[in-house]
Amino acid sequence: MTDRFTLPDLPWAADALEPHISANTLGFHHGKHHAAYVKNLNGLIDGTDLKELSLEEIMRKTSGDDARKGVFNNAAQIWNHTFYWRSMKPGGGGAPTGAIASKIDEAFGGYDAFKSAFHKAAATLFGSGWAWLCDAGGKLEIVQTKDADSPICHGKKPLITIDVWEHAYYLDYQNRRPDYATTWLDSLVNWEYAQENLERADVTV
Ligand code: MN
Repeated sequence: MTDRFTLPDLPWAADALEPHISANTLGFHHGKHHAAYVKNLNGLIDGTDLKELSLEEIMRKTSGDDARKGVFNNAAQIWNHTFYWRSMKPGGGGAPTGAIASKIDEAFGGYDAFKSAFHKAAATLFGSGWAWLCDAGGKLEIVQTKDADSPICHGKKPLITIDVWEHAYYLDYQNRRPDYATTWLDSLVNWEYAQENLERADVTV
């Protein structure tokens, strides 16, 4: 079998986000969890017509299809993780500037109100999932998705995301998901990536 998908490299060194997210966390999160989704999907689509499609096409084709739930979950988790790594950078965080800042002001009435709402979405999502800032038809909104689900399957364009599955933070923050979300907003979020996505017609990874 020839692998259709490969594990993308992290966009920075594995220790580059310390002390906020440790190399130990990323070793498991990228090297084990993300890698497992890639391995699983390659096995599930081998010998099927899905192997000819892009990751986004596989996600949209299998979204909501109970018979292909495993394919969807692994494909979407590959996409979501690649997007999550790019949503962070060393020295990131704080309030954005430029067009993305204006769009946030327009939608939420200011950065502080956005930050409070995004933090709440990340902290309160029950169980495993993701919190996103999305462009929904020209207006920004905060979206929560459960498990592997992704806004690209619901007509919304993601700009950034935070992974709130326990495996994303438990080694560094244990049960303190709100502290992880605060640190993510203050020290990690990559607003340049959000700006690039805002300008794209369609976001792919
Ligand atoms: Mn994860």
